[in-house]
Amino acid sequence: MLNIIICGAPGCGKGTQSELIVEKYKLNHLSTGDLLRKEIESKTELGKEAESYISKGNLVPDQMIISILTKAIDAQDKEKNGVILDGFPRTVAQAEALEQMLQERGMSTSVLLDLQVDRRELINRLLKRGETSGRSDDNMETIKKRLEVYEAKTAPVSDFYKSLGKYASVDGMGTIDEIFGRIASVLDSNK
Ligand code: ADP
Repeated sequence: MLNIIICGAPGCGKGTQSELIVEKYKLNHLSTGDLLRKEIESKTELGKEAESYISKGNLVPDQMIISILTKAIDAQDKEKNGVILDGFPRTVAQAEALEQMLQERGMSTSVLLDLQVDRRELINRLLKRGETSGRSDDNMETIKKRLEVYEAKTAPVSDFYKSLGKYASVDGMGTIDEIFGRIASVLDSNK
């Protein structure tokens, strides 16, 4: 089984690369951002609560996202070769909860891919996406806040996986194909 975490600052290309990875390695794709945006679109109570955090660039509370993710893991297609987690875990508390949850299900994380992109490039990509995405968080003020939150809360998740010997840094600058090539070589050496 190949259970991958794809991690990196907002705008690093996690979503784009995840699509290519699921296709090649026949994995399930769980994006916590997408799951939350579906709740917002459907105007559920959970969606309304989540929107109040997301639109300000903050993370939603750990307990909320851990419960959403656990349900999604249990509902996933068992025929696939594993899963790619996109946007989760985003705090060390989420990482601890994830590892425990996987262990209880006889699973474990294979590797965390950390996509590295320059700050200026991240901001450019997110502003460009904001022109068409309709996302309430793709504007300059919220982007800056998300980058701050990333440094404070999510960057430490890398150290957690380094200590487990399951960390791989990937250069996220260049074309989509170049970056995917780097990811595939990490994953192929992990098999
Ligand atoms: P990006 O990586 O561009 O910020 P995402 O779609 O992954 O986009 O996340 C958008 C927003 O959804 C985050 O800024 C955060 O508010 C919320 N979110 C997504 N995943 C999590 C998570 N694991 N924990 C807390 N909040 C999350």
